[in-house]
Amino acid sequence: MSDGKTSSLPACGDKHAASALSVDEARKRIESGVNPVSGAEKIALRSALGRILDEDIRSPINVPSHTNSAVDGYAFVHSDLAAAGTAALRVIGTAWAGRPFNGHVHAGECIRIMTGAAVPAGADTVVMQENVRIENNMIRIGTALKEGENIRVAGEDLAKGQVALTSGKQIMPPELGLLASIGLGEVSVRRRLRVAFFSTGDELRSIGQPITEGQIYDSNRYTLYGMLTRLAVDIQDMGVIRDDRDAIKKAFIEASENADVVITSGGVSVGEADYVKETLEALGEIGFWQIAMKPGRPLAFGRVRGATFFGLPGNPVSVMVTFYQFVEPALRRMMGQTGTHAGMMTYKVRCISSFQKRPGRTEFQRAVLERDVSGDLIVRATGKQGSGILRSMSEANCFVILPQDSNAVEPGTIVDVQPFYGML
Ligand code: AMP
Ligand code: MG
Repeated sequence: MSDGKTSSLPACGDKHAASALSVDEARKRIESGVNPVSGAEKIALRSALGRILDEDIRSPINVPSHTNSAVDGYAFVHSDLAAAGTAALRVIGTAWAGRPFNGHVHAGECIRIMTGAAVPAGADTVVMQENVRIENNMIRIGTALKEGENIRVAGEDLAKGQVALTSGKQIMPPELGLLASIGLGEVSVRRRLRVAFFSTGDELRSIGQPITEGQIYDSNRYTLYGMLTRLAVDIQDMGVIRDDRDAIKKAFIEASENADVVITSGGVSVGEADYVKETLEALGEIGFWQIAMKPGRPLAFGRVRGATFFGLPGNPVSVMVTFYQFVEPALRRMMGQTGTHAGMMTYKVRCISSFQKRPGRTEFQRAVLERDVSGDLIVRATGKQGSGILRSMSEANCFVILPQDSNAVEPGTIVDVQPFYGML
């Protein structure tokens, strides 16, 4: 790691707010501490959704491959129109999409042409069928038209040899279509990132087990499963690990041997059994950070035996917030994706409710983004904001991000909104 040395990081026990990392600083340290994995594979187009391109794609053909009509109408020679302003032209044939007219269109002639049909030799302009009068086998054009109007020129979307997509691009529905449009049935993509994750905590039970007093169901492994599945990574769910030195050590060794990334939840807060920290420090190079944010204050980041490690807090909302703000951008970088992913976009929106806050930490409050009666975007708070209240994530559709130094926000203030759409 270039910047993530354990020794240079604030330790878990730091009580002073001054030693807490800002959200931006933590992001920078994480970004500079991870690198794209190498290795690629050639896969069928349909399997490539969500994967990252490992090659620049040059179009082997022109798109469109032939000059064609953009409308249903009549193809003719533009100079016919220029002379008189209007024209009377004889219809000499028809061209359908996929069934061209093989003759030549001369002065005084036209053909009936359908959308997508190849424009025949001689013709250079198409008039929409709504703009002509038909008498016997003649059309009369009364409208002014520019030369080339209603025609899509071969290669105007993509010229043969032109770079259509660059390495590092995530293949999403538009890219699937684009690759199909140039006739590619296979693409070279980065290998899948391998991510192992487990929960820590003696109080945790898995679904199907009875819970007694003081015990809770492990939900973090399910949110992590969902968030990771969306990223087209290989996931290894290692279950719940007890708060026990040997069990933790064993799990870490196993995870780091099988995965590029190890993600855990719980066990990184102040006052947590020290052996978790101690075990991790012995096995790898890990910083236990206090981040000036809410929720999600404690976070561990570093390396365990060659694997990148993220120790997320235990509280369910903190897990989601720290995942989206820090882990996902890092995973995308490791997956080989270049550029900023759209899910990190923020927008300025007027709020219609107040947001409680004290200066000192960046807050990611759960909120609802919607339109008011006049159609303007507004944002309002959801209910309780406790870091254990997972319902707040389900009821919200965005984060309202309140800057570290800000106080409570009154209705009418413009706030930064990060929609879940594109992120969750
Ligand atoms: P910890 O950081 O381990 O002290 O956990 C903080 C809080 O999150 C505690 O209330 C835990 O019970 C809770 N918690 C930890 N892990 C999970 C989990 N996997 N699912 C749900 N809640 C959890
Ligand atoms: Mg715990």
